[in-house]
Amino acid sequence: MSTKNLKFNSKTIHGGQEPDKAYGSVMPPIYQTSTYAQTTPGGHKGYEYSRSANPTRTALENSLASIENGNYGLAFASGLSAIDAVIKLLSPGDEVVSTNDLYGGSYRLFKQVFEKYGIKFHFIGMQEVDVIEAHINEKTKLLWVETPTNPMMNVIDIPAAADLAKKHNLLLAVDNTFATPYLQRPLDLGADIVMHSATKYLGGHSDVVVGALVVKDKELADQLYFLQNASGAVCGPMDSFLTLRGIKTLHVRMQRHCENGKAIAEYLVKHPKIEKVYWPGFESHPNHDIAKAQMDNFGGMISFIPKGSSFEDAVKIVENLKVFTLAESLGGVESLAGHPASMTHASIPKEEREKSGVVDSLIRLSVGIEDVDDLISDLDQAIG
Ligand SMILES: *Cc1c(COP(=O)(O)O)cnc(C)c1O
Repeated sequence: MSTKNLKFNSKTIHGGQEPDKAYGSVMPPIYQTSTYAQTTPGGHKGYEYSRSANPTRTALENSLASIENGNYGLAFASGLSAIDAVIKLLSPGDEVVSTNDLYGGSYRLFKQVFEKYGIKFHFIGMQEVDVIEAHINEKTKLLWVETPTNPMMNVIDIPAAADLAKKHNLLLAVDNTFATPYLQRPLDLGADIVMHSATKYLGGHSDVVVGALVVKDKELADQLYFLQNASGAVCGPMDSFLTLRGIKTLHVRMQRHCENGKAIAEYLVKHPKIEKVYWPGFESHPNHDIAKAQMDNFGGMISFIPKGSSFEDAVKIVENLKVFTLAESLGGVESLAGHPASMTHASIPKEEREKSGVVDSLIRLSVGIEDVDDLISDLDQAIG
C-alpha cells in the first residue's frame, strides 16, 4: 500500500510501513544484529552491517519521512548527533546564522565544538527577516531555525526564512522538536532539512534518546547518509522500535498536550502571583499571527516568571511540585518542570542567556497528558 496520500493521523500509524516480510508481524521485529549472512561476497538482501543500515531502523526512518512529508528519513543516536551531521555538511570558513534562543546543547555543539573547526555561528533573534538578512554574507551556507524557541517560545516565520534561503542559495534547517509534524511541517513550508530530538514528543514516553533528520532532496539525503554512516552515531534497533511505537500515538498525545497546555497557560496568565507567561497561543504573543499561520495548534510547552521572584524562589517552586516531575527533557506523557538557568541552559553564559530573556526566575513546563485538574492543583500548591 502506498501511504503517501494518507492523512496525518493515519501516517503516524501506517506511514512508510508494511508488515514484516518474514512472518507478517505487524510491528517490525527488533533486528538486534550487527551483521547479515551473505551468500557470496556482496550477495545480501540489502543489509550488510548495522551501522550502514538495519531493518528496524529503516522502518523508523520510513515513518519519519512519512510524517514530515519528506522523501528520506535518517535516525541517529540522539538529537545532537543529528545536528552534528548537518553541520558536517559545511567546511572551515563557512558561516551559519542561528536562532539565539535555542536548545542549550545545540549552542554548546556549535560554539564549543564546531567553532574550533573554523565554522562561524551568528546567534541572533530571528523574528525579524531583515535582521536575518543583515547577517548573511557570501560565506553563509546554512540558516538554523528553532521554532517555537526553547524556552522563550518565540516563533520564527519559516516561509520567510525559506524565501531568504532560496534568494541567497543557503540551506534552511528547522529543529521541529517542540512543534512536531502534528503542529508544523517545515518541509512543506520550504525548509530543506527537518531535525528532531525524537527523545521528546516523537518517542513521547521518556524512554529513549534518539535523533532524526528528514529531507526531500535525494542529493542532500545521500550526503547526510554518508555522514551518518561515516561518523556512525546511528539509532540502535531497540530504540528504533520504541520510537516507532511512540510515533503511532503522536497525534492522540499531541491533541491532549495542546488541550492541557492551553488550560494551564490560561490558568497561569490569570494567576495574581505570575508576572509573565510565554505561550504562542496567546493573542498578545508578539508572534501569534505567524504561529497561527504556520502551526495547527500551540502545543504544551509553556514558560513563566513568578512575580518579583529570584533564582531561589523559582527553584523553590519547581521543588514544591509533586505531579510535575523536576527533570530535564520534555515531550513525554508525564508533565515535567525545569529551571532553564540551572538546568537545560546552564551551558549558555548568564549574559548571553539573559539577552534572550532566559532570566534566573524563568520556569519551563512540559505539560503532559495527565488529568488537567491534577496539574492545575499541583501548580496552585507549588506557587502558593
Ligand atoms: C533535546 C533537544 C535537542 C537535543 O536532542 P537530544 O536527543 O537530547 O540529543 C535539540 N533540540 C531541542 C529543541 C531539544 O529539545
